[in-house]
Amino acid sequence: EILQRKTLQELYQRLTKSFEHLLWHSARGQEALAYLYKRGLSEENIRTFRVGYGMSGYQELYQFLLKRGYSEPFLAESGLFSKKHPMYSIFRDRIIFPLINSAGEVVAYSGRAMPDAKADAPKYINSPETVLFSKRKELYGMGQAKESIRKEEQFILCEGAMDVMALHQMGYTQAVAPLGSAFTLEQAELVRRFASSALLLMDGDAAGQKAIHQSAMICEESGVSSLRAVRLPANKDPSECLEYGQVDLLTKSIKHASLYFDFLLQEQFKEIPKDNIDQQMRASLPIFKYISIVPSPVRRESYLKMLAGK
Ligand code: ATP
Ligand code: MN
Ligand code: MN
Ligand code: MN
Repeated sequence: EILQRKTLQELYQRLTKSFEHLLWHSARGQEALAYLYKRGLSEENIRTFRVGYGMSGYQELYQFLLKRGYSEPFLAESGLFSKKHPMYSIFRDRIIFPLINSAGEVVAYSGRAMPDAKADAPKYINSPETVLFSKRKELYGMGQAKESIRKEEQFILCEGAMDVMALHQMGYTQAVAPLGSAFTLEQAELVRRFASSALLLMDGDAAGQKAIHQSAMICEESGVSSLRAVRLPANKDPSECLEYGQVDLLTKSIKHASLYFDFLLQEQFKEIPKDNIDQQMRASLPIFKYISIVPSPVRRESYLKMLAGK
């Protein structure tokens, strides 16, 4: 397995270069690039994140790698090909966002459908688990964000690759995101090695709000010392703020982000009449549950005081 890991690492290293080359130098790649520009991303940023284009032929990647001497059984375990059609690349005709881990290695890809893709094509396809990649343990943008997270003593958690890139471009180089799944404790422990404060910055839609609450619990469980959250307008995400010229709005929201716990209290007691003690007690139960997962007694105490005040 060690040998396989090393070989796959080499393959991903070379492949990332090939994908990048295709983005900058092929005709279809130019269309992908034009789309990225349209989304407001800069050339420099696209290069920093090593974005690529994943070849257009179904078997193109397979043949390309066979010619370079990779064996069929090895390719079957590479995380690049369809389980149903072993010669079909899962990243065929997609914009490729390599996940670069904290050691600076490409360990997975996220492939976005082209703007003219069939309507039923999934918008994103992410690498499956491989010897290199455990999706519960890695965060998109970690390689690019690590130093900044350390320096700012904070990490920003958002939803996707586009959001991470947009935030970096707006100067928030401490942004990272899980790839298409919920934030996990393993991921929290990874970023917590570099910083103890967190800012949650998910999409303004219902799914994003749900993700904020879920991620907040994970952050608390991992022992963060400061936890803030930004509530974006409905149907906005960080990358749309960049695309539609709302950088100021986002910057202000980040600057004035409230404590997540305040936000939680506000939400939970929004419709509870001030004189109805029964309802207030009932609404407090989930908050008690939240407080009970906080490891620090001092932090628990301060949350209890805030809850009592409410
Ligand atoms: P874009 O800005 O490129 O249109 P997004 O990041 O705003 O995409 P969302 O719909 O907000 O996309 O989804 C958030 C994240 O969830 C995505 O970045 C991606 O990682 C993941 N995701 C979205 N759709 C899928 C899918 N069909 N399969 C797997 N993961 C997905
Ligand atoms: Mn979303
Ligand atoms: Mn989004
Ligand atoms: Mn988006």
